Amino acid sequence: MTDAHDLQGVARYAAAAREAEGQRQQALDRLRRCRFDTIAVHGLYTMNESLNFNQGAIIEPVYLCSSQAYRDSDEMEAALSYQVPTWCYSRIGNPSLYYFENTLALLEGYGGDTETSCCATASGMAAIQSATDPFLAIDPQRPNQKINFVSTCQVYGGTFQQFAIRKAQERGLECRWIINSADLSEWESQIDDNTRFVYGELPSNPGQAFFDLDAVIGLAHARGIPVIIDNTVASPALLRPIARGADIVVQSVTKSLTSSGFGIAGAVISRKNITSRFGSDEMRADFAMYLKTLPNRDLGQNLSPMNAILSLNDMRTLRSKMDLFSRNTMEVATYLQSHPGIEQVDYLGLESHPLHPLASRYLFLVDAEHDPQYGRPTNRYGHLMSFRVKGGAKATRKMFDAFQRIWRATDLGRIKSVATIPAISTHQQQGEEGRKMADIPPNMVRLCVGGEHPADVIEDLEQALAAIEGAVPVQVPLKFSVGGASGAQLA
Ligand SMILES: *Cc1c(COP(=O)(O)O)cnc(C)c1O
Repeated sequence: MTDAHDLQGVARYAAAAREAEGQRQQALDRLRRCRFDTIAVHGLYTMNESLNFNQGAIIEPVYLCSSQAYRDSDEMEAALSYQVPTWCYSRIGNPSLYYFENTLALLEGYGGDTETSCCATASGMAAIQSATDPFLAIDPQRPNQKINFVSTCQVYGGTFQQFAIRKAQERGLECRWIINSADLSEWESQIDDNTRFVYGELPSNPGQAFFDLDAVIGLAHARGIPVIIDNTVASPALLRPIARGADIVVQSVTKSLTSSGFGIAGAVISRKNITSRFGSDEMRADFAMYLKTLPNRDLGQNLSPMNAILSLNDMRTLRSKMDLFSRNTMEVATYLQSHPGIEQVDYLGLESHPLHPLASRYLFLVDAEHDPQYGRPTNRYGHLMSFRVKGGAKATRKMFDAFQRIWRATDLGRIKSVATIPAISTHQQQGEEGRKMADIPPNMVRLCVGGEHPADVIEDLEQALAAIEGAVPVQVPLKFSVGGASGAQLA
């Protein structure tokens, strides 16, 4: 029971909160007018805030704290009914998460005409679960509806398991795989009135599948169905699906965004007013904020403050790192393509890749037109490539085992080059049939080129390929057009 006096007290806090919210919006608007690099470097954290509330520290504080104190019962009531901005309890929110989430929301929304918001999660897999499960709830009006969702089959191994086992097998939801995502008629035939969302990963990990994002968004939206995109591999430095009309983006922040390799993190970023026939008005209006304050509050997938600040700190140099990694990967892919011990190289940047023209319509280094080095829109294809070794699984493992500088690890987007054999690692659990469907043969090596000088990565590949029995070391003439491959500028 609240009497009039209490209501007045709560209302007082709510009014103060509205004013503070106005100031926050102004700060956001100022930041939105900045270029990508400036947003990534500064985020919402200002000198004013630092001097007044944070001892002048120039880097955002890590609030390793479970909960927030309130001035009095009125403020507590206003906060816990979400009438004033609050972080309350670190399972729901935390000031360190706030800096991280707002910065990433701005980067994913950059160049678009819609506001974006973000809910950080404990991992990329938690982000995918958070982004998809709200659409898979039972509709009380149609309790017997046979719910389905549509997804590219060339997805990260963990995503494949989450969709095929956790959702389809364990919960009886129908997962409809798109086998060839570049074929629009396949999408068209799989989407129907019982489809709750459409999900795609591009470029896919590890197979480099790519699809016509604009067309798929068009098909889904024509039926009132939301589009969820895993943008982990490209990162907002190369592709911003929300600015092109997608509703929700998921990120394994662990990868391109946090290239140092410190910790695991994920994020769900959404546009305002997503398209979805299913769900409540509240869920559609601001999906990421809805997640944060309701389902994820109850389910508990949110991120720790330490990992939020580590990720935020890495994100500041995202654009220059993705540019460097892309240029280095191009050098390495070009080298491998002409090596006689290699059966096939898959890299979207290579003209020989069948999806190169399609990818070239989508993958651009953000702000290249404002960069004196480029001065015009410039394609960049990222750090993810794969190649197939002649001689089958045995030769592949032998080469892999001979790496001396390239790290053998199931990881990607690192400042250090890393490689894995997907069939025995990331995609092991989905079985022979699942791998066949996603075209992941046992002689495929996934390689993510980092910030080393590409000549040194190539040298390691060269000696590893020579280590395959019977192979003769070959000297391929190398041309290094990359100038500033030094990591010094990246700190
Ligand atoms: C790694 C990865 C994920 C899962 O992210 P985690 O942070 O490891 O949970 C999802 N999608 C893609 C494309 C990935 O590479």
